[in-house]
Amino acid sequence: MPKLPDPTKNPDYVIAEAAEEFMQPIKKIADDLGLTEEELLPHGHYVAKVDYKKVLERLKDRPDGKYIDVTAITPTPLGEGKSTSTMGLVEGMGKLGLKVTAAIRQPSGGPTMNIKGSAAGGGLAQCVPLTPFSLGLTGDINAIMNAHNLAMVALNTRLQHERNYNDEQLERLSGMKRLNIDPTNIEMGWIIDFCCQGLRNIVMGLGGRRDGFLMQSRFGIAVSSEVMAILAVAKDLKDMRERMGKIVVAYDRAGKPITTEDLEVAGAMTAWMNEALNPNLLQTIEGQPVFVHAGPFANIAIGQSSILADRCALKLSDYHVTESGFGADIGFEKFWNLKCRYSGLKPHCAVVVATIRALKCHGGAPIPVPGKPMPKEYQGENVEWVEKGCANLLHHIATVKSAGINPVVCVNSFYTDTPNEIAAVKRLCEAAGARVAVSRHWEKGGEGAIEFAEAVKDACEEENQFKLLYELETPLRQRLDLIAKQVYGADGVDYSPEAEAKAKKIEADPELSKLGTCMVKTHLSLSDNPNLKGVPKNWRLYIRDILTYGGAGFVVPVAGTISLMPGSGSNPAFRRIDVDTDSGKVKGIF
Ligand code: ADP
Repeated sequence: MPKLPDPTKNPDYVIAEAAEEFMQPIKKIADDLGLTEEELLPHGHYVAKVDYKKVLERLKDRPDGKYIDVTAITPTPLGEGKSTSTMGLVEGMGKLGLKVTAAIRQPSGGPTMNIKGSAAGGGLAQCVPLTPFSLGLTGDINAIMNAHNLAMVALNTRLQHERNYNDEQLERLSGMKRLNIDPTNIEMGWIIDFCCQGLRNIVMGLGGRRDGFLMQSRFGIAVSSEVMAILAVAKDLKDMRERMGKIVVAYDRAGKPITTEDLEVAGAMTAWMNEALNPNLLQTIEGQPVFVHAGPFANIAIGQSSILADRCALKLSDYHVTESGFGADIGFEKFWNLKCRYSGLKPHCAVVVATIRALKCHGGAPIPVPGKPMPKEYQGENVEWVEKGCANLLHHIATVKSAGINPVVCVNSFYTDTPNEIAAVKRLCEAAGARVAVSRHWEKGGEGAIEFAEAVKDACEEENQFKLLYELETPLRQRLDLIAKQVYGADGVDYSPEAEAKAKKIEADPELSKLGTCMVKTHLSLSDNPNLKGVPKNWRLYIRDILTYGGAGFVVPVAGTISLMPGSGSNPAFRRIDVDTDSGKVKGIF
């Protein structure tokens, strides 16, 4: 491995740019992984799609590798290095000579252009090539936007035509039957892959009779789309087609759901998604294969890498590391009770990533703000804050254990951490029965992650009793009570009148009552209030709305004040991103 720029002195994109000089062609990565030529669908020299159908068919009798999930403690708004640690772990396992793969989510343009940056990892633990990875990749999110927005086009046009024509005219013009859509009861909004608070509430259809139907609508960020959720959980194309037809777009005047199938748009939506169903293949800085598929945002979406990417990778490697977004309260909870339920796969181990800075924040230091200098409290040793903040980490360890899986705590080490701070974390976590590994992958790549890789390998050898938290027969409000109390540490759940009415309707419906539960909740606290750190006590979860994702197969309770459309801050990343017009290289992505 050639010497790369020092991460303590260079931004991530400079390291990625240097590493990209030595990248292996994707064909070589695929050959080493054991993919055949027909299974690899190259997009240029360093990115490819993988034909999942051919891989799963050819390797159906091969036993799966070990399945490892990466989750975290409740992060600060800066991120605690889950993607970095996922890359670091596969680099470390690669150094041990193990056949290992990763699956991460495709970054969203929202954070990439706003405050948090891309999701390629960082330092010497990154996924490359960084620019295509960060800016659209092979077009999956574009396909999702087109498929999703096509349903809204179908809805608004249908409303216009049903208003402008009587039944006889509708029949004569296009053989259409009136659906009697209630324009005041619309379930779906539009999507765009940027953070744009100005699109949270919109009025559309201004103008005349031929300018569409006048209605209030909204935009969410693309990754929160039900179509993205379908990409994450679909088994194959047939399954995707069926799910695509079950998306509830609106309700009729009798309150009956109007689906994408009713609007006759589900086939065309699937056509947009056909290619996107194949996972993408990239590599780490050190040349391990990285699948990239489906999207982030486990706070407002399922936020998991796709089941298809995991199933292909498990057939192709002995160890597969997949990432579920944010803390174990939301990312891991959805991996556990949604993704594993639908895939039938059983994880062997879960990594809980922690940083000294997040522990200090949970212990009492001020919350850091992205794009602003770190508060002075983070400079220098403070063992007391770290020890106090460990309460949050111990809570997440207990959550992983309650799923019956062995947790490995990865202290994602910053070069500013002190030995006393790290010793405190080790002592408290080991006392709680978790393995702890201190890892320096950000600074040293795979070489710095040997202890981490060995701890995960050992944990994979241990027995585990993986079990789901709830059965789909458990009534919705009882399920929410269980998640709130056991996973979040709440005293109970309160509902807005609207959410309570929806919950009752769902519980009484034979089909809806059997859907999974995909919570929308802030990732910045165990509670529904982003400002409450550590392990908040004496609080109740507030559910203000419940959405139905009939195609993805879950209901989506929305907790607290979180929005499905994040806002852009005053110092967004796009201010610093540009192109070197001589080399054509993109600068400033982090
Ligand atoms: P997450 O996946 O938890 O959101 P990321 O892996 O994207 O977090 O990391 C967020 C940012 O923190 C990145 O810019 C990354 O370079 C930086 N980072 C991660 N780990 C370290 C570390 N050990 N030392 C310094 N910076 C780090």
